[in-house]
Amino acid sequence: MKQVAENRKLTEEAIAREDKYGAHNYHPLPVVLERGEGIFVWDVEGKKYFDFLSAYSALNQGHNHPKIISALIEQAGKLSLTSRAFYNDCLGPYEEFITRYFGYDKVLPMNTGAEGVETALKLARRWAYDKKGVEENEAKIVVCEGNFHGRTISVISASTDPDSYGRFGPFTPGYIKIPYNDTKALEKALSDKSVAAFLVEPVQGEAGVVVPDEGYLKICSDLCRKNNVLFVADEIQTGLGRTGKLLACDHENVKPDILILGKALAGGVLPVSAVLANDDIMLCIKPGEHGSTYGGNPLACKVAMASLQVIRDEKLAENAYRLGNLLLNELKKLEHPAIELVRGKGLFCALVIKSDWKKNAWDLCVELMEKGLLAKPTHGNIIRFAPPLTINEDELHECISIIRDVVKNF
Ligand code: PLP
Repeated sequence: MKQVAENRKLTEEAIAREDKYGAHNYHPLPVVLERGEGIFVWDVEGKKYFDFLSAYSALNQGHNHPKIISALIEQAGKLSLTSRAFYNDCLGPYEEFITRYFGYDKVLPMNTGAEGVETALKLARRWAYDKKGVEENEAKIVVCEGNFHGRTISVISASTDPDSYGRFGPFTPGYIKIPYNDTKALEKALSDKSVAAFLVEPVQGEAGVVVPDEGYLKICSDLCRKNNVLFVADEIQTGLGRTGKLLACDHENVKPDILILGKALAGGVLPVSAVLANDDIMLCIKPGEHGSTYGGNPLACKVAMASLQVIRDEKLAENAYRLGNLLLNELKKLEHPAIELVRGKGLFCALVIKSDWKKNAWDLCVELMEKGLLAKPTHGNIIRFAPPLTINEDELHECISIIRDVVKNF
């Protein structure tokens, strides 16, 4: 009894400390984690959980993947950062590796996802001036309602979620906002000759795993081509195996003109993002016109190569495809009056809870946590399920039975 109370104190003190000294820009579940391995994490009280969020898909390869950690340790003891003022012996091999991996001429390395998006936006605007002949300062970017592309001022200027943009103005101009999954609206928006790019998430992650109609991406990409507009895919959350293909765009054999990657590109150990494009687009940016002190650092290069290698070697996209179907089918069998909808693609699924139900998604997540499974609500009534892609079938069945039990009594 005494031990339980002492353990509980560890959790409470940790939460109180964050609350006192940290900005209140997040609202975490009341669990304090201290260790992770594979698909599991342990809290400071020693309790083990299935990680069903994977740090918003940054941990597709699972926690502490031995190959990623050894790449990190080996390079950290050698050379971690040079800045781009000098060449280093890791960046070239990484650039060659990642461009071949995804089939592009060039990569521009950055750190966070939001920086990757900013980079893509700058690149698209520059291309519009240099190649398309759009009048300077007139370039527009078409984005979708419900998008989430990060937290910088320019990126939230594209947002339609008041939590993201409210009272943070003035905003960056130059966006046209259209409904998601609406190709007619896109066709209309693209008739404006100053449009540089269409920026889209192939599945909207933060919006609650909103999966567009089959064929949507292909039609969008064709419309962009027809109108000489760049098709820019933000695959920061959907990419790297999450939806059951290497890229979510691969489901429709669509190749974006600009591809943005982040999160699992570094297997959860560092912020690493990348923007990929062919020469006619990428070479519009010249020396001194864009960059980042940490972007392309040797540590990131080695970690990213190891992370991509793990995805390929361990067939994580294939696993996500097979087990994703299983997860979605089992979730669809959950019969409960509180559930409005179940949707997903690959190991990227969501439960939508009826907003008038007596309990909400937060309550369900707390109950799941008590039963040893960590997931997080988004937008009040949606729960995203996104385990590491290294999960196996038996483990997934165990998770499904936890979800089933909790939902049954919800
Ligand atoms: N784009 C998408 C689709 C995302 O899901 C996210 C983060 O959740 C971002 C961009 C921003 O990434 P970061 O938090 O690394 O800046």
